Amino acid sequence: MAASGCFGTPVCLKRRSTIPATLPKLIVYHLDKSLTEQLATLGLKPGDVGRVAISHTHGDHIGNMALFPDATVLMQRAEYNWIHSPDGPNDNVNQLMALARKLLGTPKRLQLIDGDADVFGDGSVTLLATPGHTPGHQSLLVHLRKSGFILLSGDVAHSEENFTRGIVPTLNTNKADSLASMQRVRDLISTYQAAFFINHQKSQAQTLKLLPASYD
Ligand SMILES: [Zn+2]
Repeated sequence: MAASGCFGTPVCLKRRSTIPATLPKLIVYHLDKSLTEQLATLGLKPGDVGRVAISHTHGDHIGNMALFPDATVLMQRAEYNWIHSPDGPNDNVNQLMALARKLLGTPKRLQLIDGDADVFGDGSVTLLATPGHTPGHQSLLVHLRKSGFILLSGDVAHSEENFTRGIVPTLNTNKADSLASMQRVRDLISTYQAAFFINHQKSQAQTLKLLPASYD
């Protein structure tokens, strides 16, 4: 399940300039190596990926969905319903929702999840409902033989400081849910003695193993 490694973007994506991607009006992200090129370093093609779990539908997390037309897409039902709901008062959020609909497209195999889900039924990969950043945001707990538990945060917090101090970005759709989800993640880290990967914390990302290196 290579896609689980792509759940927390820094685990598989090295960012920098060259290849422009997504979010045209708000933010433009760049990769110096496409996801296809990065999978190739493992001897994989996008078509080899059977499941794609998405933390949430912001463009910087689902910009490569079109590469996986035959994969089963695992996402929270609340997230799917949200991006297909009518526009609200915040135009930035409306733009993100429109972009999300475009990038997600119409998955052939869509598995909508309500709450937590043990993906393989053996505790190795667990999706955890952590709403607040978006209505159906989810995080991912991975249990590895040597590395133990690793919690991929999605965007439950954008930085170590936000996570430690409970700071909620204004773009988040629900502040109370965001704070509750951060607390849930703190409790999980403590329960599982889990390593915690924060997608947008650059200083941490620079210390992580990136493809073709991996955690096992
Ligand atoms: Zn986000």
